[in-house]
Amino acid sequence: MKSKYQALPKGVSENRFDAAIKKFQAALGADQVLTSADHLRPYTKVMMSVPDARHQPSAVVTATSVEQVQAVVKICNEYKIPVWTISTGRNFGYGSAAPVERGQIVLDLKKMNKIIHIDPELCTALVEPGVTYQMLYDYIEENKLPLMLSFSAPSAIAGPVGNTMDRGVGYTPYGEHFLMQCGMEVVLANGDVLRTGMGGVKGDKAWQVFKWGYGPTLDGMFTQSNYGICTKMGFWLMPKPPVFKPFEIKFDNEADINEIVEMLRPLRIANIIPNAVVIAGTLWEAATCGVRRSDYITEPGATPDSVLAQIRKDKHLGAWNVYCALYGSPEQVEVNWKIVTETIKRAGKGRIVTQEEAGDTQPFKYRAQLMSGVPNLQEFGLYNWRGGGGSMWFAPVSQARGSECDKQYALAKKILNKHGLDYVGEFIVGWRDMHHVIDVLYDRSSEEETQRANACFNELLDEFEKEGYAVYRVNTAFQERVANSYGPVKRSVERKIKRALDPNGILAPGKSGINI
Ligand SMILES: Cc1cc2nc3c(=O)[nH]c(=O)nc-3n(C[C@H](O)[C@H](O)[C@H](O)COP(=O)(O)OP(=O)(O)OC[C@H]3O[C@@H](n4cnc5c(N)ncnc54)[C@H](O)[C@@H]3O)c2cc1C
Repeated sequence: MKSKYQALPKGVSENRFDAAIKKFQAALGADQVLTSADHLRPYTKVMMSVPDARHQPSAVVTATSVEQVQAVVKICNEYKIPVWTISTGRNFGYGSAAPVERGQIVLDLKKMNKIIHIDPELCTALVEPGVTYQMLYDYIEENKLPLMLSFSAPSAIAGPVGNTMDRGVGYTPYGEHFLMQCGMEVVLANGDVLRTGMGGVKGDKAWQVFKWGYGPTLDGMFTQSNYGICTKMGFWLMPKPPVFKPFEIKFDNEADINEIVEMLRPLRIANIIPNAVVIAGTLWEAATCGVRRSDYITEPGATPDSVLAQIRKDKHLGAWNVYCALYGSPEQVEVNWKIVTETIKRAGKGRIVTQEEAGDTQPFKYRAQLMSGVPNLQEFGLYNWRGGGGSMWFAPVSQARGSECDKQYALAKKILNKHGLDYVGEFIVGWRDMHHVIDVLYDRSSEEETQRANACFNELLDEFEKEGYAVYRVNTAFQERVANSYGPVKRSVERKIKRALDPNGILAPGKSGINI
């Protein structure tokens, strides 16, 4: 029988869902409970290689206060309704705003959007989940605060709570966002409100300055998990440096990746270069500055190396394009610049491009903006490379060693090309690790290409795992698969914690492969 809902939560009848919806309406207000196809559309758009129907929410509820979030979990427990939480809901390429399993309701926290405080002396912030990086940027600019934000590339429209809960990264020296997080408020499945770190101490003033508190440190277990709903998050902001000096180094050959990593790792570990060094491949660069595949080639399949060479020539791109920046006083920057330029000179390859030389050209401009906390949406150009709206991030981690990067690059390119897709990727140097981020781009309007992308993604996961690599984050269609890469003991511990904290399994069951 056809339901009046777009989907129903697993094991919940339509009558029972009707009763739950009435309770949500009474607790939140009728306009905060959405069920029609039109209202749900923004929450159903996924870019993954599986049918939309698998991630169709049954309803969306919005909350404006912690008490309303508590009311939502109470009703969810009563009716056994699974709830998927989003903050700004821009998790593109990882599942967007849609839930991990069909029929879950989405709890959208974008209306909880207060910047609770920014302390310009201690350089800390405390915000609600709906606060976007653009809102923070505007606040800092309007109040002329000497502070710098760090954010993911969709900056303007995304936000610190959602990005940090998914352990996302940015491009300034504060780019490892979970490292810079300090203090969380979390609504647990039983409605209790937990404050992590110093937040539980009566009269405390150190919640946003000392992360560890006393006893076990709990913040990490709420990220990439389904143990609680974050309603406030503190984090650190970087003081705006007197001098910001972005630069690019272009390398001509794909084989240079080994030497690039060996050359830059010591500078990064020693904090001579204090931000995440990005090593972007040709097609990433080309797509973000507007090149489409169809400008060069109309035959389907992997783009031949001869076309890559032509694009490099036409657009003055390297095979690898390295972006980094120096931050500090004029004296500090001058010394570090000397160290960097001498290192590159010694290597005998790599052309340095400075801000003065690049002027306003892309992609240098948007990279420099990301490295200095200025929001922009330039990276969405990636979606025009093939068109058709298919995108899944494949993000394996490795040691920051040239030989490892060389090996990962060759393996990824081989598998992508075998499935008729392109290597559109970059390496992001953490401190000692590499986030190797590859956008598996495909035409989702073609059923055949979508199936190829699906096979490709599975093969990437399988073949990388055979070599001892696993991804640090993945879209909702593959979370169960990736959880297996991390071994049975971890899974069993996660399940025990889930059963203890959420016995009815109402919070995002299936997230990161965790169920009761
Ligand atoms: C072109 C492009 C470039 C990108 N570049 C980057 C990049 O540089 N770095 C990067 O990290 N990502 C990147 N992304 C991926 C993604 O878009 C960003 O990470 C974005 O910041 C995530 O969306 P959000 O901040 O709106 O978080 P949300 O979508 O709100 O949340 C992300 C996830 O966290 C969980 N969550 C959210 N809020 C809560 C809460 N209150 N309580 C409990 N759990 C919660 C949910 O599982 C949710 O799905 C990119 C995407 C695109 C399309």
